[in-house]
Amino acid sequence: MSKRNITDIKGQTKKIACLSCAIQKGEVESPGGSILSSKYFEAHQDYEIPIPGFIIIASKRHLQSVDEFTEEEQRDFMKFLCRLRRGMRKALKISVVYLIQEEDTSHHFHIWVFPRYNWMAKKFGCKIQSVRPIMEYAREHLKTASNLKKVDTATQKLKQFFK
Ligand SMILES: [Zn+2]
Repeated sequence: MSKRNITDIKGQTKKIACLSCAIQKGEVESPGGSILSSKYFEAHQDYEIPIPGFIIIASKRHLQSVDEFTEEEQRDFMKFLCRLRRGMRKALKISVVYLIQEEDTSHHFHIWVFPRYNWMAKKFGCKIQSVRPIMEYAREHLKTASNLKKVDTATQKLKQFFK
């Protein structure tokens, strides 16, 4: 697999083949570390986009699509997703998320649990077409100390909730 440069939310760049595998193996650390882990799945703050509570659920195995899940992974995934969503609602007061999975951008299964905040709708509108501009805006303008602290606080709150 060819390697690519990837820049984390603090601006540090690393050369990585598969980001999800690198996180699972501990070769790179997701911002704030692992939030929730089961036998088959793991959740962490998005590596590149500094939006508080923007959580990625990744499979521990390197697979691409839900149709490759074993029966056990299917059951585990649904429980995992519901548990994470509940934690985001209770610990972070996030009332709306978008769930997004793009099978063509990575060959390692991961799903975006993308939180919606009021500033997003005001500035970029709603629905799927607003997500990429919000992410680009966050990547360009939200790597500030105060926002990175908000990202870290959200991660810590979730970790505490799932303890
Ligand atoms: Zn992988």
